[in-house]
Amino acid sequence: MIIDAHCHAGRGDGFTGPWDTAAPLARYLARARHAGIARSVLFSVFHSDYAAANRQVARIVAAHPGRFFGFAFIHPIRDRGRVFDLVSTAVSQYGFCGIKVHRYDARITREICAVARAFRLPVLYDVMGEVPVVELLATEYPDVPFIIPHLGSFADDWRAQTAFIAPLARYANVYTDTAGVRRYDLLVRAVHDAGPEKIIFGSDGPWLHPGVELAKVQMLGLSPRDERLVLGENILRLISPAEASSPSPRTARRSAVGAPEPSIDPWLAPSTVTA
Ligand SMILES: [Zn+2]
Repeated sequence: MIIDAHCHAGRGDGFTGPWDTAAPLARYLARARHAGIARSVLFSVFHSDYAAANRQVARIVAAHPGRFFGFAFIHPIRDRGRVFDLVSTAVSQYGFCGIKVHRYDARITREICAVARAFRLPVLYDVMGEVPVVELLATEYPDVPFIIPHLGSFADDWRAQTAFIAPLARYANVYTDTAGVRRYDLLVRAVHDAGPEKIIFGSDGPWLHPGVELAKVQMLGLSPRDERLVLGENILRLISPAEASSPSPRTARRSAVGAPEPSIDPWLAPSTVTA
């Protein structure tokens, strides 16, 4: 089964570009069907209120039973103090199985990582070229899977993407997706150095064509077993703990919010908060 592990959905309210305005799925779904993509991971576009945005995505997921997996989009600063509640709603009411965070909003926080750990969810964190954080996340939360999309840079930052391959290979809990990666030889190198277990097919639909993005993976010339890993089995493995278990909310809240860590993040000090 081919799974597209990176697709946006819903409407935003930013109006700076498609990424915070709208991600209509009709054309995407036709293209995905034609390409043989059976399921997709959905998360919101950029939004000023991710509680509302995740609710939109939940309605889309619910309207197409068996077609989508939902991830909860979280803003590290704006949602501070309510990450547990947002994720709890997303998991228990919407059936979501992952968390999406984007550096464009703000840097990821301990609060988010701790909630991911408590709910046993993977975190898809777009670092926007800030590769050094990957090592910190991987070592501080070795039990949390981090999917760093676009080989670390949607902007084709060669230095960032090249630098990212080392931690991708080194840390067992670091993964990447293929969405939007244009420097093909870096994708080849990532597969070679890190192994097909660490590479996840994603399209960045509906803005990128899922069939075109899928063709990139199919042209890697992987063995049938390795291609199955990249095209679906890797992401299924990462989201299945969340699907299989229902964490005790009390335990999860204690470990997620009761942890003392958030106060030691210097960038969380009110005087230094920047988006
Ligand atoms: Zn994206």
